[in-house]
Amino acid sequence: MRQAFSSSARDGRKATQECPCGFFGDSTRECHCSPPQIQRYVSKISGPLIDRIDIHIEVPAVKYKELRGASAIEDSATVRERVLRARMRQSARFTGEKKIFANAQMPPKLIRKFCAISDEGEKMLENAITRMGLSARAHDRILKVARTIADLDESASLQTRHLGEAIQYRTLDRTYWA
Ligand SMILES: [Zn+2]
Repeated sequence: MRQAFSSSARDGRKATQECPCGFFGDSTRECHCSPPQIQRYVSKISGPLIDRIDIHIEVPAVKYKELRGASAIEDSATVRERVLRARMRQSARFTGEKKIFANAQMPPKLIRKFCAISDEGEKMLENAITRMGLSARAHDRILKVARTIADLDESASLQTRHLGEAIQYRTLDRTYWA
């Protein structure tokens, strides 16, 4: 899977960067940019490029208090174990397929084979595609990401909740290319 999207590469600032001032969507500071300014800023990341990225989510700037707070997060060893198990599921899945080791590499034929969804899921996906105006490529990407979410969940079948999560990871489509 490709890396999560970060729009801060250009100027090195962290957190959400959806406008010139950098505070659009920030809960602690006010953004004074105009809608056209924001649109222009985001348009630099073109639709086709966004299409090629598996996951993009908006990450609000973390407040200092939250940064210091001891929240119950998983330690990285636990996460690592889960990721390794998901990778093992994937290599088992693609035994016999040449040069394919991971969900991200599935061609359309294998997507159809391994990413079967229920009628309910089908409806949800169709809805999302229409609402967000997604391309066929984005459609396939959602299914592949959903398959990986199911693998991390140690679920043999691709369930509607996995699909729903994958759809949520297309926030830039939803916000700017709907
Ligand atoms: Zn701004």
